[in-house]
Amino acid sequence: MKVIVIGCTHAGTAAITQMVQHHPEAQITVYERNDNISFLSCGIALHVSGVVKQAEKLFYASPAQLAELGVDTRMKHDVLNVDTAAKTVRVRNLDTGEEFTDAYDKLVMTTGSWPIIPQLPGIGMENIQLCKNYAHSQTIIAKAKDAKRVTVVGAGYIGIELVEAFEQLGKDVTLIDNMDRTMFKYLDPEFTAVAESALEERGIRLALGRTVTGFEGQDGRVRKVLTTNGEFEADLVILCIGFRPNTELLQGQVDMLPNGAIIVDEYMRTSNPDVFAAGDSCAIHYNPTGTHAYIPLATNAVRMGTLVARNLVTPTVRYMGTQGTSGIKIYDYNIASTGMTEAAAIAADMKVKAVTLNENYRPEFMPTFENVLLKVVYLEQTGRIIGAQVLSKADLTQAINTLSVCIQNGMTMDELGYVDFFFQPHYNKPWNLLNQAGLQAM
Ligand SMILES: Cc1cc2nc3c(=O)[nH]c(=O)nc-3n(C[C@H](O)[C@H](O)[C@H](O)COP(=O)(O)OP(=O)(O)OC[C@H]3O[C@@H](n4cnc5c(N)ncnc54)[C@H](O)[C@@H]3O)c2cc1C
Repeated sequence: MKVIVIGCTHAGTAAITQMVQHHPEAQITVYERNDNISFLSCGIALHVSGVVKQAEKLFYASPAQLAELGVDTRMKHDVLNVDTAAKTVRVRNLDTGEEFTDAYDKLVMTTGSWPIIPQLPGIGMENIQLCKNYAHSQTIIAKAKDAKRVTVVGAGYIGIELVEAFEQLGKDVTLIDNMDRTMFKYLDPEFTAVAESALEERGIRLALGRTVTGFEGQDGRVRKVLTTNGEFEADLVILCIGFRPNTELLQGQVDMLPNGAIIVDEYMRTSNPDVFAAGDSCAIHYNPTGTHAYIPLATNAVRMGTLVARNLVTPTVRYMGTQGTSGIKIYDYNIASTGMTEAAAIAADMKVKAVTLNENYRPEFMPTFENVLLKVVYLEQTGRIIGAQVLSKADLTQAINTLSVCIQNGMTMDELGYVDFFFQPHYNKPWNLLNQAGLQAM
């Protein structure tokens, strides 16, 4: 069985290493246009701020390791075309320019995503950067050295992590977003308000509720970001406004969402039985709504990649879907969220209720304790939990993983009220916060 894998970051690396284990008979070839694999983009902000000093620590696998496993590892090879009828791919060697055709029995599409680049006046100017891969991280670090004023466009997780990193480097930092608050996809306003105050207290300028309309510069280099409400001087601009799936190769050949995300079934099969897909190139089953959604996260990528290997020959292990569970640390605050926010549920015309707890996470007789903000969102009619958020200076983010399991298993607030959680004064109160949330909903 000849398997071709296109793209080798998280989904590709997981699929390959697991295929080697579960299908030792398979002849695997991987084509990757970069010269590296497995780069952890989640470490870019930590690297920019200097917390992670060595970029090489942000890789967990290398092309040499894959080659040692017997995988035909073709770095700096770009796949130009896929013909699913002929079961062939057309490839260009980026070092030599040579082009050739290769054939497969099974194709694994792990081509991931690419940052959205808005077509605005001045977008091509120097010092307007993307933030996705290893090369980007090195460019950002190099350019930040001479930049006094840095503007980040996009106030999602990535933009927020970057503004904190630049502030820690002593830059004059502006964060622009067209929404009137940050991180609106993951957090409700009572949570984002705390995060925004923390950013503003450090001097980060939040320019929310305005849309970037273009860029102006001098000698081809960006100097100003223009918006619908004011302009902002900048020596360096980082665009973090979202991602789109890299799936042009299969356009018209397999089923996709309107944004181009490949639709896979629970066994990672596309609508073509010999083509599997995983990671940011795919849509994923979103448990809170029961629909397909585009949620590009490394967590989904490694799970889906692993499942490609398990299901390559026979459908064996099903994917349980996702809640889009995610976390972020903003200065002293540990924040995490899973499933739908109350705002997202209301926007989707769902009839929901929410319980919000705002109290100390452990007994006041302890020498120290911190406040915690916990919110659980549930369906009004059935009490089924569909989302949750937590924010505290204490690290209580694992509570959100627990609630992710609750959503996954269709649990109700009634059940949450009486689930068996331990009590120990170092960690919590006799009524665990999650029990309390459940009880308050009754
Ligand atoms: C700054 C940043 C921070 C993040 N932080 C987190 C986090 O904290 N937690 C989390 O869960 N997720 C995080 N993510 C998201 C996470 O990085 C992605 O979900 C993950 O990288 C997806 O992995 P993937 O393998 O599916 O796709 P990608 O990482 O996009 O990799 C796809 C690979 O395919 C290659 N490729 C594409 N087309 C071709 C072609 N035609 N020929 C050859 N090769 C090709 C690309 O070069 C690339 O190496 C972050 C992302 C960014 C950018």
